Amino acid sequence: VIADLSYDNPHVYPFMEMQRWKTHPLIKQFLEGGKRISYGARAVVKGGFNSLPKLTFPGGCLIGDDAGFLNFAKIKGSHTAMKSGMLCGEAIFEAIAAGVAQGGEVGFARITEGDDVFIKEVTAYTQKYQNSWLKEELYHSRNFGPAMHKFGTWIGGGFNFIDQNVFHIPFTLHDLVPDFSALKPVNAVNFKPDYPKPDGKLTFDRLSSVFISNTVHEENQPSHLKLTDASIPVNVNLPKWDEPAQRYCPAGVYEIVEENDGSKRFQINAANCVHCKTCDIKDPSQNITWVAPEGGGGPNYPNM
Ligand SMILES: Cc1cc2nc3c(=O)[nH]c(=O)nc-3n(C[C@H](O)[C@H](O)[C@H](O)COP(=O)(O)OP(=O)(O)OC[C@H]3O[C@@H](n4cnc5c(N)ncnc54)[C@H](O)[C@@H]3O)c2cc1C
Ligand code: SF4
Repeated sequence: VIADLSYDNPHVYPFMEMQRWKTHPLIKQFLEGGKRISYGARAVVKGGFNSLPKLTFPGGCLIGDDAGFLNFAKIKGSHTAMKSGMLCGEAIFEAIAAGVAQGGEVGFARITEGDDVFIKEVTAYTQKYQNSWLKEELYHSRNFGPAMHKFGTWIGGGFNFIDQNVFHIPFTLHDLVPDFSALKPVNAVNFKPDYPKPDGKLTFDRLSSVFISNTVHEENQPSHLKLTDASIPVNVNLPKWDEPAQRYCPAGVYEIVEENDGSKRFQINAANCVHCKTCDIKDPSQNITWVAPEGGGGPNYPNM
């Protein structure tokens, strides 16, 4: 199930949307009587062609979802990730071969001038991408996300049907509204979804779901979820957006806790984090930064 993080209602609770989706008769018929065996969540990199960054830097290249190669129209990124890795590998191999052919001491990676060492940039990877089917595919799906966000599901969907299946529309739409700025304040929305209570058979609560993601973090490490300003969740996000982190986090990491004296405190249960990066993307104050935790912690999905 995918919830587009450009949603504007701060009361939306993506985890509970998924639970409700499972109760639809069309879906329920396939799930009823089944057993919940695992749980996980991850943000899909949906920017595609219009959002690609510079692909190379001295000593490194961006491939796969790191660069944003997922084709949002298909919601598929495995083939594009593999292709970008292959193009990158070819470019590096050729650079190494050229360096070795020139008698280079360390192949392609470094140029030494006196005491200075410069790390080379394999820009040939970018050229290979430009000449590949990967670029063609992403170019042809570049309007998908912007059309849905600008025109909505019906008109945007119609636009995309024509663009993808009838003829490629010869102009580019841009979506310049970041997902974090899409949320409306609570006092500007009238609709508050009423999510049904989980039944423990077809629908489940968040914490028991996180449990079967087998998430483990080394204990006593500093939180890998950094707040730029620790006062913002209670002083800004809570009154303005009812602190949406309580709902958009699929692992229940963020809680507003009421103290005995009635004051509110923002609690971060970092050990539960399944590393989806939604908080880094969706926090309306852009106050949360996800960093890699110590010791390779995180979810351990079975059979992956
Ligand atoms: C719910 C969902 C459904 C999808 N369905 C499809 C589909 O049907 N078909 C399709 O083609 N694509 C699908 N995709 C997209 C596809 O999964 C991704 O585009 C693709 O996996 C990207 O590959 P990648 O190698 O770039 O990144 P990833 O597959 O994300 O691999 C990155 C790896 O790096 C590891 N890592 C991260 N940080 C560190 C660190 N600090 N140290 C060491 N390791 C680290 C991660 O654990 C991970 O194993 C789906 C995505 C989602 C979320
Ligand atoms: S804390 Fe952030 S990265 Fe971790 S599970 Fe929650 S939203 Fe995802």
